Amino acid sequence: MDISNPSLAVACPRCGLLTPRFLDLCRNCGYKLWPSSYAASAAFQAWRAADPARAAASRYDMEIPQHVELVVDFDAKARELGIHMPPPSRWPFVICAGALFLGLAAIPFSPEVRITLAIIGGLIFLIGVIGWVLVEDVKMYPAESTTSGEAHH
Ligand SMILES: [Zn+2]
Repeated sequence: MDISNPSLAVACPRCGLLTPRFLDLCRNCGYKLWPSSYAASAAFQAWRAADPARAAASRYDMEIPQHVELVVDFDAKARELGIHMPPPSRWPFVICAGALFLGLAAIPFSPEVRITLAIIGGLIFLIGVIGWVLVEDVKMYPAESTTSGEAHH
């Protein structure tokens, strides 16, 4: 057995299709590649021990799994594409919290509880909307609101 060969897959001598090298039977046609599963496993362990990069490999793989970190910086990507991204905002969470209380007010509790919940929810909701639309938006587009006198959205 050639330990230095990094390949985890091998072409089956009978069907010619690629199959995991350290399984005793060909995955495609069942051809016996190893005298026993035990021998195949022992060969695999010797192969894996030969190189630390092979530690993540499995006998059932056709290639060593590569750990690829898929992190996308959308802000950088947007700048690259010339797309204007609004700065991250906390106001939508406030609006959602208000909507939660308004939703609770829809549950048939006693009228006093429902009115109280509706007032709390309405207030939080309004604060969120005012903060998002009037405070933050004006900060984001100062030139536009001063020149035209009204905000365009
Ligand atoms: Zn085969």
